[in-house]
Amino acid sequence: MFGKILFGVFGVLIPVALAYAAAGYLPGTTWPVIALGATAYSMMALNLMLAARLPGTDALFGGLDQIYFTHKWAGITLLVAAFLHQQIKISTDGVQVIETLSRLAVDVAEISFYALVVLVLISFFKRVPRMPKITWEIPYDLWRWSHRLLGVVFAGFVFHQFFVKTPFDNNAFLASYLNILGVLGLSSFLWSQFGFLARRRSYRVTSVVKHPACTIVDLEPTGGGISARPGSFAFVKFSTKGLGEPHPFTVSQVRPNGGIQFSIRGLGDFTRKLRDAIAVGDTARVEGGYGRFDYRRGGSKQVWVAAGIGITPFLAWADHLKAEGTGDIRLIYCVRNPEEAVSIERLHAAQDRVPGFQLTLHQSDTDGRFDAAKLVEYLTFDIGQASLWFCGPAPMREGLVKGLKANGKTPRSVHFERFEFR
Ligand SMILES: Cc1cc2nc3c(=O)[nH]c(=O)nc-3n(C[C@H](O)[C@H](O)[C@H](O)COP(=O)(O)OP(=O)(O)OC[C@H]3O[C@@H](n4cnc5c(N)ncnc54)[C@H](O)[C@@H]3O)c2cc1C
Repeated sequence: MFGKILFGVFGVLIPVALAYAAAGYLPGTTWPVIALGATAYSMMALNLMLAARLPGTDALFGGLDQIYFTHKWAGITLLVAAFLHQQIKISTDGVQVIETLSRLAVDVAEISFYALVVLVLISFFKRVPRMPKITWEIPYDLWRWSHRLLGVVFAGFVFHQFFVKTPFDNNAFLASYLNILGVLGLSSFLWSQFGFLARRRSYRVTSVVKHPACTIVDLEPTGGGISARPGSFAFVKFSTKGLGEPHPFTVSQVRPNGGIQFSIRGLGDFTRKLRDAIAVGDTARVEGGYGRFDYRRGGSKQVWVAAGIGITPFLAWADHLKAEGTGDIRLIYCVRNPEEAVSIERLHAAQDRVPGFQLTLHQSDTDGRFDAAKLVEYLTFDIGQASLWFCGPAPMREGLVKGLKANGKTPRSVHFERFEFR
């Protein structure tokens, strides 16, 4: 919440106030038009800062999910503000500037604006809206490139704001504010594109297990490893042919010697290829850990619900539970049949070791569909007193939360991890 307030203050309030201070005395729509441009520009700079995953942002926003939410809606809002800014003409008669540069600044802004429209639309819509029959999705690669190009578009806006003819004094606080945000936005963009060179760590694959539901890959650092908390995720790419693009996976085990594990379900090109191609001795580059999915914020009564490969953060948590001082934790692991359950022996070991931890394996083949009523049936305490932690498909989570609410069993808080960025 605090992060969203800060975003609103720096992205909207300050630019609007400074635009009024710089041009409020001018006639007509001049200052609102400048305020719209300054707001679009400030929000874009802040959005680039969010995309750079700078340390501390997760905590400010209360998790990656809230960051995505702000990032996405700020993108749409700034597009509307940029559109209005571009449509309404203001008079700059009598302003002293280098004419050619100013004209170029207007042209650059116009091209950047149209590029912004296309790129934001690609980013916003994963597939054709309101047409469920068309299942084609914008490929992730195209989406990623569209996001990368947004940094170049911002550079166009920085050029525009620096050289365009403005009807207010260029020494006004507004100009300085926008210049600072320009530098911060561009630096964040460069950091997000090239910072991985400093953040990535080298690992070696020490074990590969082809479980029926996923491929379990163990890695050990060849030098200093990443710092991952249980529940963190990391980007990993391998030296193996065809596996050179970094993908995000939850670290399903964090070992005291720095070793880490990923449990990867074959869902698409990369993850299926990995199952066939990865071998002991391959090298990997890992960047992380990221995320704030951390049960330690959840109080003494907790309900953990995992569906399918959504078990990965809970595996890392279960390993991490202390025998003493752990409250009541009930993990419900939803699978179709026992063969699908990943690393179940570690969950049983945690159950034997930690008195407050209990595992329920819900097998939909024999136990039927898992829903809110089933969840309440499995619990020995009131879910109204507990925090709910969920990792699995979004429709299942929404159904559960809705069902619990309808039965007057709303959990004290709901936390979830999404296996998707867009
Ligand atoms: C925070 C987080 C944690 C995750 N943890 C796990 C885990 O523990 N185990 C597991 O099996 N899966 C996990 N995933 C999902 C995993 O990242 C995707 O299944 C995988 O990247 C799909 O790639 P693909 O090429 O095989 O499939 P595709 O069919 O190409 O992609 C399927 C979807 O995955 C996403 N995706 C694809 N490529 C990338 C990429 N390079 N970077 C980011 N997202 C991408 C896109 O939304 C895409 O629509 C996690 C995802 C996230 C965001």
